[in-house]
Amino acid sequence: MNSIVIAIDGPAGTGKSIVAKLLAEKINFHYVDSGIYYRAITYWIIKNNIKPNELQKINDFVKNSKIEIKDDNVFLNGADITKDIRNMEVTNKVSSVSKLRNLRKIISQKLRDCANSGNLVMDGKDIGTVVFPDAKVKFFISCDDSMRAARRQQEFLDIGQKIPRDKMLKEMLKRDEVDATRQEGPLKKAEDAIELDTTNMIVEEQVDFLNRKLIAKGIIE
Ligand code: C5P
Repeated sequence: MNSIVIAIDGPAGTGKSIVAKLLAEKINFHYVDSGIYYRAITYWIIKNNIKPNELQKINDFVKNSKIEIKDDNVFLNGADITKDIRNMEVTNKVSSVSKLRNLRKIISQKLRDCANSGNLVMDGKDIGTVVFPDAKVKFFISCDDSMRAARRQQEFLDIGQKIPRDKMLKEMLKRDEVDATRQEGPLKKAEDAIELDTTNMIVEEQVDFLNRKLIAKGIIE
């Protein structure tokens, strides 16, 4: 793999996906939101009433499924699931699905394959630690909890779902806990990651911060 990979990890609601996407656009790299893969499989599990113990069925499906991102739309085996993967049901269940060891292995390989088509910015939870431990540059994005809940609340409002702030915060912290304590690929800052706290920064400042780090490291000019 000769592509340059920039890994961006962090908890939900820190704004990492938007900053990762804008950074990728600015430096002309591909962008992949790895959470989409876990959400897509979770959506399929819910829709088809798959039981958590039907591991073989889940793994076979993941292996043979095609997840595509085209112009901000997400397709699972050709079906547009862009809106479905953001609903509250998927959001609340995704962390328990993401704990499955073999599923993570299969998805991690699919994510690694994304680097075959060129330079890449990828965001997630374990990108700098497990998926691309040799990524050229790693960032870890953090943000204060109440600001994270506010940002997530706005994301749901944008798709027409009104959720009280305290409920949002509770669900988010529950998901963080599951993500950070699972055995396989827990959410964790890679030792060599550069940390960025986005609490008091607008998105342009965040992109600028990351961009300056890439210039300083000689990744871009
Ligand atoms: O980033 P997003 O909130 O869409 O991620 C949804 C969920 O997918 C996370 O809470 C986590 O459980 C799972 N995930 C993961 N590893 C990744 C990306 C996402 O386990 N690399």
